[in-house]
Formats: sequence, C-alpha cells, structure tokens
Amino acid sequence: MRLSILAAACVFAASSVPLGVRAQPLPAAHPLLAELAAQVSPERQHATIAKLVGFGTRHTLSDTKSAARGIGAARRWVKAEFEAMSKDCGGCLAVETPSQVVTNRRIPTPTEVMDVLAIQRGSTDPDRVVVISGHMDSRVTDPMNATSDAPGANDDASGTAAVMEAARVLSKHKFAATIVYAVLSGEEQGLNGGKVLADTATAKHWRVEADLNNDIVGNSEGINGVRETNRVRVFSEGTRTIETPAEADKRRYNGGEVDSPSRQLARFMAGLADRYMGNFRVTMVYRTDRFSRGGDQNEMLKAGFPAVRVTEANENYTRQHQDLRTENGIRYGDVIEGVDFAYLANVTRLNVISLAALASAPAPATGVDISGAVSADTTVKWTPAADAAGYRIWWRATTDPQWRYSRDATAAEARGGQTVLKDVNIDDWFFGVAAVGADGWEAPVVFPGAAGSWARPVEAPAAATR
Ligand SMILES: [Zn+2]
Repeated sequence: MRLSILAAACVFAASSVPLGVRAQPLPAAHPLLAELAAQVSPERQHATIAKLVGFGTRHTLSDTKSAARGIGAARRWVKAEFEAMSKDCGGCLAVETPSQVVTNRRIPTPTEVMDVLAIQRGSTDPDRVVVISGHMDSRVTDPMNATSDAPGANDDASGTAAVMEAARVLSKHKFAATIVYAVLSGEEQGLNGGKVLADTATAKHWRVEADLNNDIVGNSEGINGVRETNRVRVFSEGTRTIETPAEADKRRYNGGEVDSPSRQLARFMAGLADRYMGNFRVTMVYRTDRFSRGGDQNEMLKAGFPAVRVTEANENYTRQHQDLRTENGIRYGDVIEGVDFAYLANVTRLNVISLAALASAPAPATGVDISGAVSADTTVKWTPAADAAGYRIWWRATTDPQWRYSRDATAAEARGGQTVLKDVNIDDWFFGVAAVGADGWEAPVVFPGAAGSWARPVEAPAAATR
C-alpha cells in the first residue's frame, strides 16, 4: 500500500513536467487586431445609447407606428444606421429584417417580432458565419407594461451599441467568413428574437461558427458596490444542447463535459484578451448563462449553433427591469447614467477582435479523433481542409481550464491529417486540433468526437424539442 502511494506520487510529479513537450515559439501577433480595437469609439456608443433611450420605451408590445416612440421607431432607426454604414463601405452590408408573428405567455395577442440584421458577406467562405448579437427591446418591472418609459440603457442598449459599433469598425475591412451584426427584439418576452435569428440562419443554410451574444455589457459598478473595469464574463455551455443520449454515454466515459464548441469559443476569446487587451480580462464561467437566467444565445444553442453570452463582471439589479423611481434613497431604473462608456468600449473591443480573428481564420477543424490506448504515444487525426495551411495540436491536463501545450503538425502531417505525439500518454490529457491559415490566423481548438464537433446534425435537431 505504502509503495503504491509512493509510485502514484512519482507519477504525479512527473506529469507536472510532461513528457513529449518541447518549446514552441508563440505565433506572431496580428497587428490588424490592435488597429481594429483602437477604432472603437466610446463617444459613438454614447450617442447610440442616447438615441435608443430617446425612443421612450422599446418594449416588444409597444407602438410600431410612431416616428418618435416605441419599438417600431427604434428598429427603423437601427436599420437606417446599418444602411448608412453600408453606403460608407460600397454596399458591403445587406440589411434584412426577418420577423415572426408570435403569441405566448408574455405576448397575449399576435405580434410581429422583428430583428434587424446587417450581413457582411465573406470573401472566400460566405456560408461560414460569425455573429454578434444584442437585443434592442426593453422593459420595466411588469413585463407586460408596454407604455411606461423603459430606457433599457444597459439591458440591452449596451449590447445593441456593441453590435452597431462592431459593424461600423469591421465593415471597413474584408474577411474570409461572413459576419452578421444582429440587433434582436422580443428577448424580454421569451427570447423570440433569438429564435428568429436561429431560424433565419437555418433557412439560409449558414454554418454558424459562433454567436457572441452581448446582453448587459455596459455597467462597471455592481449592486455590491464593487467597481470593476478590467474584466468581463463569458458564459458558455459545457456540453452541447443538441447532444444525443448515445453521444452523452461516450462523452461521460472519455471526457468532454467542459469542451463543447461554445466553451472553445470562450477559451478563444480569453486567449485573445490576454494577448491583445492589456489589463482587460475574460472571466470564463462554466455555465450557459447566469444562474437560472436566460438569453438569446439559448435559441442558437438549441438549433445546434455554438454561442456564448457576454455580460459585465458585476451586475446592478436596481437598474434592471425596474420602474423608474426613487425608493429609500435608491434610484431605480436602467438609465444612461448607469453606463460606463470606457468599460463598454473595452467589451466591444473584445468582440471586435474576436469576430475579426474568427472570420480571418480557417473553419474549425473537422473529423478530429484521437487514439493510443495502452501505448506511450497519442495519435491525433483530423480531416485536411482546403482553407487550412496547417494544424496546431493542443493538449492540457484534464483539470486545466485553458489549452496549455501545443505542437504544429509538419507540412506532410497536415496534408495527411495525422500526427503522433511521442511520449504523450492519451490517458492523462485532453487533446484538440486548431486549423491555421496561410497567414497565421488560428481557428478555435476542436475537441475530438461529437462532444467537440462544430457540425450540426443533418436533420432538424431532435434536442430542440427538449
Ligand atoms: Zn437583456
């Protein structure tokens, strides 16, 4: 007994300096990302939120005819803004307004829920799509109150301002994949705009690689009084919403509980923040959303599209879903004074560089698989793709939150779709593969098998009815 404990301790010590690891230089930085980040303007975002607040209420059930007040005026303004941006880039944005007529618990009479999308077509892989979304609709205490002032400056004019600023900055550049800037509606009445977006993506046969859903991203002082300006939370599901029972059985045995495509997106964003955002960091939260709460990304996940929720570090609940009032000296309501525009700009920069990096890189690797049980080495396989110039193999301890070790496949291995990691034991590590473009852009890491696959089921996902 004593001996076996000693042996176990030796193995543990050895695994802290893993076999098979050799130094690999950090890939070159991309100057474009720093350039894009510098173009995000807090002043413009201030003007955007002031304009949105000026519509009085943007409740989903509010007036649609008035030119000055209500959701109709708000969405016409967003559409006109996207059209103006498109003029500035030679018509690079196709502006569309998909809608559905919805009736539900919070929409008692049939009501048109309309999103406003600006679509920047990719230059080489236009069916591959990265999305940034936020919702324009707002509410007060009673979710059915469609007439009282509901400024929704932070929930979610801040996310809408992130989407619109990303469009303004990124539309001046060209990317391999398509970028969709999505201003949603109906979130507060049941995530209806997220459903419209997911259904639109499905109908258009988009291969959605990511939806970065920004909801409540502009406040830096929490209800706890803590002011934190240097981090943002990125929520991601651990296992795919569309996972089948058979896939779950396999994943339960071999791992993959924390390696869904959405989780890899969160890791991808955290890595970019570390490299390009100075003191501004991503806190990954291993949850689909905040505890028992929801967002439009849920509808994308149900449709089988990887998606994350981006939300400020410390929320202030006196400013969310509240009638405008003062009680016991506390001012309630989601007013523009609660938005920290320097903070919102940093959250927007993180989105902008993430979208640019995703849309510049090749598609995430497919056919990723590993083998090597009862041997000293691990074999990693993938399906070589035309848009990838190379592949980077990543691995990490099974308890490690971020990918740690990497090795580039040789040119011959990249073409052959296989590499062998000598002296890296398959039992002790999680593995992944990242496609790398000719110009060094690296796609998110893909975990092996169904647990990590970006692919959607060919038929309508059964899990959507769960
Ligand atoms: Zn919201």
